[in-house]
Amino acid sequence: MQYHAPKSTCNLCGKEYTQRGLTKHVKSCLTKRLYNQHGIPYLYIVVRSSFNHDYFFHLLLSPTTTLKDLDAFLRNYWLECCGHVSAFAFERWGEEIPMSRKVNKVLSPGKTLEYQYDFGSTTELQIKCIADITAVAKGKKKIQVLSRNTQPIIPCDACGKFPATRICTACQWDGAGWLCEKCAPGHDCGEEMYFLPVVNSPRTGVCAYDGE
Ligand SMILES: [Zn+2]
Ligand SMILES: [Zn+2]
Ligand SMILES: [Zn+2]
Ligand SMILES: [Zn+2]
Repeated sequence: MQYHAPKSTCNLCGKEYTQRGLTKHVKSCLTKRLYNQHGIPYLYIVVRSSFNHDYFFHLLLSPTTTLKDLDAFLRNYWLECCGHVSAFAFERWGEEIPMSRKVNKVLSPGKTLEYQYDFGSTTELQIKCIADITAVAKGKKKIQVLSRNTQPIIPCDACGKFPATRICTACQWDGAGWLCEKCAPGHDCGEEMYFLPVVNSPRTGVCAYDGE
């Protein structure tokens, strides 16, 4: 089997799209379904892993959303293992933007932010603002999920036949160690070895991240 990223669903209409077609679709779907001239200004942003674009969130942010809210969301769904430090910046490794800032004060259509979680085993994300839209959205949530990537299928490094369900944290440093249920018990990397589950996050296999 080969690595592949299945299609993902637009939560507004329920249809499935490849990563390439998704942004264009969600943008037009948003206008069609939520635009209302008497609404309030929302931002449509896409957050993705800097090194694997198959991990992404398409989000709709209310005008009161702060960077702290976005940070909490990303920790909750993707990142939190042991309370590491995180930061937003305009450039990679650039000056930190205070978390109290509203997202709409630092982002507008076409602009991007960089985000880092954990300055040791860093997970890096890119945040791009796609559009702003005057809308009436359902619910009181500050952050609404318009789409989230379906978990990529990663083949086992040992047999190549089945999808990996566990990662050897010793091999992970070399970008290997993806193992299926059959091959994991026979894998021996010595005393330092332990397994983490394969989860739908760009932090899968890193530090102690287990998706919980
Ligand atoms: Zn749609
Ligand atoms: Zn950690
Ligand atoms: Zn295997
Ligand atoms: Zn190993």
